[in-house]
Amino acid sequence: MSKTTAALAVLKSAGVFGLVSRAMRSKLRILCYHGLWLGDSPQYGDCLYMQSQRFEQRMEWLARSAFPVLPLDEAIRRLDDGSLPDNAVTITIDDGWFSTLKGMVPVLERLGLPATLYATTYYSVRGGPVLNVLVDYLITQAPAEVLGRSAYARELAGTHPGLAPSSPAGRNAIGGRLAATVDALPGSQRMDAVREIASALGKDIAPILEGRWFDLMSEDELREAHDRGLDIQLHTHTHRMHGLVPEKVASEIEVNRRELARILGIDPSSFRHFCYPSGVHSRAVFDAVRHCGIRSATTTESGLAAAADERMSLSRILDCQSMTTLEFEARLTGVWDMIAGARKRMRSSEEVYAG
Ligand SMILES: [Zn+2]
Repeated sequence: MSKTTAALAVLKSAGVFGLVSRAMRSKLRILCYHGLWLGDSPQYGDCLYMQSQRFEQRMEWLARSAFPVLPLDEAIRRLDDGSLPDNAVTITIDDGWFSTLKGMVPVLERLGLPATLYATTYYSVRGGPVLNVLVDYLITQAPAEVLGRSAYARELAGTHPGLAPSSPAGRNAIGGRLAATVDALPGSQRMDAVREIASALGKDIAPILEGRWFDLMSEDELREAHDRGLDIQLHTHTHRMHGLVPEKVASEIEVNRRELARILGIDPSSFRHFCYPSGVHSRAVFDAVRHCGIRSATTTESGLAAAADERMSLSRILDCQSMTTLEFEARLTGVWDMIAGARKRMRSSEEVYAG
């Protein structure tokens, strides 16, 4: 048992979870998921992909719990007018992975839980895997000694000699940079670059492509998800924030909205909620986002959403494969925030003394 788990278990048995949850009952808990892992072992992306059993276990826990689950639009409306039920939860899922349709939608349907999907549209229209994520997977899962076999990886190591492929942190950095390099190539050259990297690393990508490990839903699949009850909202067209330039962000939202309205055959004005891709946001874009007719925008910052919070930057609870049920419960009750807040206050008072 880790120290954190042990500490949480003590707090729970002392009744602190119940007390804090009562104190925080007026806040909204916005859960954040991404996709499910469809690939082989070891699992990649702790918070990007979850094992299907873990997701099912979480949703079953939630359905049995005293936390009422509301659709996002209703939750935001009731956060605004003060009529939110105690300890309200809303479920949001980012990106629109194929695995979300395959594995999450059936669980949500079976348990009757409402959820919102923030769908990015570029890869749904274009088809094929999300290449920067696939590249990151290839690099971070590759043994260090084969990394130098890729011309792309060699070139990168040449320009960034500090990146050590022998350490996981170094591989993460190489994966991230190489993913960005591939992303910056013209669309027609990206898949060739990915094939070069995969073949240099000795990785067969056929099963990855066939199994659709890194695919988003196609247009037909997005329609199917919507028909099966998933609320679909905005997440930009290309999953980019363009250096937080307000006009570019607004344009991303408008293209995303137009594409979703076309794909789903519904009114463009029905898209009123937005999630910042990769959580990238700043005050500089709030007005531009609001002017796009957005009523709520969520980030990946951790916490519960209060009535007084800025609607253009609502915090969420990011659920991950490695999170224990106890930690999940600590986050939902608000105990986690309370501990994190206390730690922060302790650190800043230490800094005052040290300074
Ligand atoms: Zn995203």
